[in-house]
Amino acid sequence: MEEQKENIQAADKNVKKCGTTSSSVGDPVTPSRGEFGDPVYKEIALANGHINRMDRDELRLKLAELKLDTRGVKDVLRKRLKSHCKKQKLLVAAAEGGVTDTYYDFICVVDFEATCEESNPPGFLHEIIEFPIVLVNTRTLHIVDTFQEYVKPELNPKLSDFCTQLTGITQEMVDQADTFGNVLRRVVTWLQERELGTKYRYALLTDGSWDMSKFLNMQCKISRIKHPKFAKKWINIRKSYGNFYKVPRTQTKLSSMLEKLGLQYEGRPHCGLDDSRNIARIATRMLQDGCQLRVNEHLHAGEVRNVPSSAPVEVSPPPHNPRSRD
Ligand code: AMP
Ligand code: MG
Repeated sequence: MEEQKENIQAADKNVKKCGTTSSSVGDPVTPSRGEFGDPVYKEIALANGHINRMDRDELRLKLAELKLDTRGVKDVLRKRLKSHCKKQKLLVAAAEGGVTDTYYDFICVVDFEATCEESNPPGFLHEIIEFPIVLVNTRTLHIVDTFQEYVKPELNPKLSDFCTQLTGITQEMVDQADTFGNVLRRVVTWLQERELGTKYRYALLTDGSWDMSKFLNMQCKISRIKHPKFAKKWINIRKSYGNFYKVPRTQTKLSSMLEKLGLQYEGRPHCGLDDSRNIARIATRMLQDGCQLRVNEHLHAGEVRNVPSSAPVEVSPPPHNPRSRD
């Protein structure tokens, strides 16, 4: 109780620091489970109006004062400050029994690497050669675990030189690896051991739609297994990023997303695990900036469909071992 009171006081102090001196109405704000009628949304709109009129230096000053990250372009800084203020105000409302804003306990970032040629001829059958997972705790915003296995391609076991140069994955690494079906079984066990989909709410997150809709879908056909249910919906971070920071889709490549946030790629580009870690860094930054990441795409009859933000929030189901197509 005492702790709750302290939280409210701390949040209240920060809300005041966010300063809502203007009466003009700013950006619309989307409540998670609350109502637009809640006075907290009026307060947030007022704060947004004030922030909209701040220039880059004022934004940086304010962020520094609040001990927040001051890196990034103006739009990013503005979004960060707005989200911080929104979060603080919602925190007060939540502590007082109002709204709350987390959808998942964990996010699983997946970034497959696959066989490829220099220009990937039309109809090229990509086979997955690396299956990485980076597990992010959405409350601590820490990467709490990782999974990584290489996979032996079966249709075309020989990697092109281009593929090895691009991904850093050598012929020896895939020769020594297991088949996709067996790796997928270990992935399922790994997820089950972490009680994802049972005790904890989780969602998969990928950089674009292709990981699940193209690479995994194609691989499941090649391996004669049904596309796993838990991998039929995901958060497409490019889409979330574009909507949240209001940047065009042409600027949502992994390198551009990092750059706009003032971050640098860490590790080796096109190593699936390193790519996943960097995607996770963007995701945690977005959560910090107040973005409520949520499933925004799903697979229906082999086609990617948008999940509109007006639809109920989707969570991934408990993972199960792959079923045969035959
Ligand atoms: P990424 O997640 O960007 O590393 O890409 C995933 C997979 O897409 C790679 O493992 C390749 O199979 C394919 N890919 C990515 N970039 C290229 C490229 N420039 N040329 C051909 N294939 C590519
Ligand atoms: Mg990659």
